[in-house]
Amino acid sequence: MSEGLPAYCDLSLPVPLDRPFTYRLPETLRHRVQPGCRLVAPFGARKLTGVALRCHNEPPEGTVREVLRLIDAEPVLDDPMLALGRWISEYYCAPLGEVLRTMAPLAAEVRRDKVYQLTDKGRDAIRQLALAASEEDSATQLLRLLERRPSTATYLKDKFTGAAGLVQRLLKQGYLAVEELAVERDPLRAPSSRLRVGLAAPPPEGKFKKAERELLAYLELHPGSHNLQELESVMPKAGAAARALARQDILTLKVELPAVSAAHIRPRHVLNPHQQVAFNQIRTAIQAREFKAFLLEGVTGSGKTEVYLNAIEATLEAGRGALLLVPEIALTPAVAGQFQHRFGDRVAILHSAFSDTERAAQWRRIRAGEAEVVVGTRSGVFAPVRNLGLIVVDEEHDTSYKQEETPRYNGRDVALVRGQAAGACVVLGSATPSLESRYNAERGKYTLLVLPERIEQRPLPAVEILDMRLEFLETRKQAVFSRRLLEAIGERLESGEQTMLLLNRRGFSTVVACRACGERLQCANCSVTLTFHRRDRRMLCHYCNYAERVPEICPKCGKEHIYFLGTGAEKVEEELHRAFPKARVTRMDRDTVTTKRHYETILAGFREGNYDILVGTQMIAKGHDIPNVTLVGVVNADIGLGMPDFRSSERTFQLLTQVAGRAGRGEVPGIVLVQTINPDHYAIRFAAAQDYRLFYEKEIQYRRTMRYPPFSALANLLVRSAKQEEAFRMSAELGRFLDPLPEGLKVLGPAEAPVARLRTEYRYQLLMKAASRKTLGETLQRIRRFALDHEWPATALVIDVDPLSLM
Ligand code: ADP
Ligand code: ZN
Repeated sequence: MSEGLPAYCDLSLPVPLDRPFTYRLPETLRHRVQPGCRLVAPFGARKLTGVALRCHNEPPEGTVREVLRLIDAEPVLDDPMLALGRWISEYYCAPLGEVLRTMAPLAAEVRRDKVYQLTDKGRDAIRQLALAASEEDSATQLLRLLERRPSTATYLKDKFTGAAGLVQRLLKQGYLAVEELAVERDPLRAPSSRLRVGLAAPPPEGKFKKAERELLAYLELHPGSHNLQELESVMPKAGAAARALARQDILTLKVELPAVSAAHIRPRHVLNPHQQVAFNQIRTAIQAREFKAFLLEGVTGSGKTEVYLNAIEATLEAGRGALLLVPEIALTPAVAGQFQHRFGDRVAILHSAFSDTERAAQWRRIRAGEAEVVVGTRSGVFAPVRNLGLIVVDEEHDTSYKQEETPRYNGRDVALVRGQAAGACVVLGSATPSLESRYNAERGKYTLLVLPERIEQRPLPAVEILDMRLEFLETRKQAVFSRRLLEAIGERLESGEQTMLLLNRRGFSTVVACRACGERLQCANCSVTLTFHRRDRRMLCHYCNYAERVPEICPKCGKEHIYFLGTGAEKVEEELHRAFPKARVTRMDRDTVTTKRHYETILAGFREGNYDILVGTQMIAKGHDIPNVTLVGVVNADIGLGMPDFRSSERTFQLLTQVAGRAGRGEVPGIVLVQTINPDHYAIRFAAAQDYRLFYEKEIQYRRTMRYPPFSALANLLVRSAKQEEAFRMSAELGRFLDPLPEGLKVLGPAEAPVARLRTEYRYQLLMKAASRKTLGETLQRIRRFALDHEWPATALVIDVDPLSLM
């Protein structure tokens, strides 16, 4: 008996119940399990992967089940990470198990599948069937198959049409049992094209296969690392040989980082005085090894990236690691290349275009301390950087930092909490900081650093507002482009300069309606109108992707009067072709960009001058630095203003400022033309003036008056159900539960959500505004308990703390 070794382990499991579960540890595991390791344990009829929180010798009451398997030899989450997980769980009111699952990127490293097998009841059923043996339906066939051997979900899906539904039914009837499998992936399974191979040490004597000997001889003759696919082109068996030798640690096999595109390597610059002042303050903080938060407010083109690069270098010099977070869409191979160029092998890029194995390989390099600089998107905030000294959050206002599923954390805010715990310096950078961050700087929580002008004192582009109401009065035409904009595009085509046109709406026309009865065609699953996509000749729901052909006759009144209203990016492209038949036009939105690669191809083509005009949605507004763009046109600046969201002005201001910032970044100054029917709206006026300060002053007044963030803490409660009465009833129950309201809390609703039905679910919401975080947090915990006590389905209640979307 191993006296003293812990016999029990508290596991955090990814289930809505918010508490750890105690399991017995088999003898073989007792000396191996540490907090932060993942284990597989039985849970009801399932087997789940959870994270060990505590090992102890306190037998729990009642029956205890035994842990089945240990996945990690070493903890994947260390103590500070577990503490961060607890903070997220509490602050965002999300079950710890789900938070920890999100934090361990190993979801990517672990392949998940389900294995089904027969229960005793299932076996009995088969036997009885055999007696009755009549015709065999697919359920029987499936049971027979499982009688022979257990099978995975993937296998069954191949074998039976409608397997998923069938399996669910049989599970419910108790004929089947399911095991969730977590199989660790082999990092050496990455494709050869992505692997680099080299000698780990002088090759030992020994018996090797012919291909292995050849490969070793080649590597001895040609030192350094080689792309495995290239080796395979001369030695066809090199792939298998390399993998075999790597398993014996004779060769090193590393996942190769994407090639640096030469177009992107920027020279190292001597910092200008503003950059230098900002950098000096950051460097001092890094050297002090204490938590300190900065807001770097720099106009577009002011050289923020160069400040980040210098700050990262200073961090490495101080012997610590650095983390840079960028918005989802901004992490292109081009951006990655820039960092690789500066930091070489010391950088790891956490790119969602990478395969799972590649990401896992990056994760290992970071944890091993091989990569000290990490560049990643939102979830990169959990990268196991050693001895973290700096976190930079670029474009800190970007909404892609917020995860729109449980746990609904904001990567920027988590970065601050992580930085604080690590004694690291945190730099939030933006040309248009969020109101919350700017207000924190005003209150002295963050130190404000300002880059007030563009590099080399290049002028900010001149912005003209074009009043489309006047345009209509003068021309009596409802045109997509004003005369001024057409003229300006024409001039650019003549002079060989480039144009970017923003229309933040996909598709061709935004509404399909009937002229006779006024019916607007809606999604079958959502309460939103369908958008016409001309190229596919379909109507599409932008929320759930439901698609339908355009009907010949109105489904409501039967008349043939279907017509199309509103303008999307696809229509802008077509109008351009009509106005400028010779112009080379390309479009960038979610219809043309289905992968990261498309995005990069379109941008590269535009940058290299293969196109004169780039049309697109907000995708074109972010961060690109294309010197030959001298005209930016905003086709309709009013789109965002109509949204029922208190942040609609902020969003509009940010989008317009960012897209305007794309013009005139090279030698030739640029202009921006903004078409609008709200020329006096402050978001549009101040964006045109590119004056963040004036916008902030005005907007913060509004927030103060309305008690919106940053003057209150907000949470959105969403109640949903496939049955409208259910959703309504639950939301009403919540309303009653909150009555009387705790001191300092205000609730709007329950009311129908702006999108009242989404993916066939009906939705009601309550928006909570609290004077203090504490009141909000306590109330939300009570609400969660209320939902658990009343046995609401796990998906019925969504709690969104600091929501960024209220739709
Ligand atoms: P921002 O992110 O603030 O919009 P960037 O970091 O993209 O600005 O910088 C704009 C351009 O200025 C880039 O092409 C960059 O290489 C260049 N740049 C940055 N710092 C300097 C400097 N000190 N001197 C000259 N050029 C610089
Ligand atoms: Zn839909």
